Amino acid sequence: MDVKNVAVLGAGTMGNGIAQVFSQSGFGVTMIDIDERYLERGMKAIETSLGRLLKKEKITAEAKEQAIGRIKTSIKLEDIAGSQLVVEAVFEDLAVKEELWKRIDGIVDENEILASNTSSISITKLASFVKRPERFIGMHFMNPVPMMKLVEVIRGLETSDAITAATTEICKSLGKVPVEVNDYPGFVSNRILMPMINEAVYCLMEGVATREAIDEVMKLGMAHPMGPLALADLIGLDVCLDIMKVLHEDLGDSKYRPCPLLRNMVASGRLGRKAGRGFYDYTS
Ligand code: NAD
Repeated sequence: MDVKNVAVLGAGTMGNGIAQVFSQSGFGVTMIDIDERYLERGMKAIETSLGRLLKKEKITAEAKEQAIGRIKTSIKLEDIAGSQLVVEAVFEDLAVKEELWKRIDGIVDENEILASNTSSISITKLASFVKRPERFIGMHFMNPVPMMKLVEVIRGLETSDAITAATTEICKSLGKVPVEVNDYPGFVSNRILMPMINEAVYCLMEGVATREAIDEVMKLGMAHPMGPLALADLIGLDVCLDIMKVLHEDLGDSKYRPCPLLRNMVASGRLGRKAGRGFYDYTS
């Protein structure tokens, strides 16, 4: 499968990171969002990220300009035509993704690889929205995309061996390390990470220790680079809650019940770094 051009849907946190790593590896990229403002914000994030790499002398000024030059932006979904790979990174909302994938299916031809960066929605379910589910796969990049090596490659029930092999090769060509997993709730990454974060919130709620102490124990005792509460703030507490709900509902086991304090934090708008406040304060 010869992939030269990639369409990235969504210019948010993940979408702009995904667009950046593809363009840095020489792929032509079309980044799509629903509003020019989001595309401008996404391009700004890419420029800042590439600027950081330039400052650290990890890339040259020429490589930075070339990477930016390979990215086109558009608010017209039709502009994904001519891409051999579509990577969707829009809101983690089944209804939004369903509507979008049905529209994509009407535009792409028979040979594209169709990939979603979803954190928790079933790949098999998303694949049911397109005519050829064997072409559909999960490409779960980690945040921040340019820094993190892992891509969880998720096989839906119908995903073909050929598409899995091609996706694995594409990840390697980005300098990433693909790890193949099967399509079960939370895959591997969030099946393990989110219950740990949820348990840390229970520890805080029950007064087992302060937020600083909980994070310190996990950093110094388990060699985690960040404590679970600080990590939850980085990911977004709404995102964490949504994933816990998926694990709880789809696996049907009470051990995945979201912590009431996590629910309260989200209800009050303390969503983490992006809101200026989560378990920690980021306003200063
Ligand atoms: P985000 O809110 O930062 O960005 C989503 C973008 O999608 C927004 O710019 C929005 O305008 C755009 N969008 C919405 N509907 C669209 C449509 N119909 N067509 C085109 N663009 C549309 O979200 P994010 O954090 O980048 O998450 C995107 C996906 O990646 C989600 O599925 C999420 O679960 C997954 N993910 C997120 C993280 C993370 O740490 N944030 C990590 C791994 C995977």
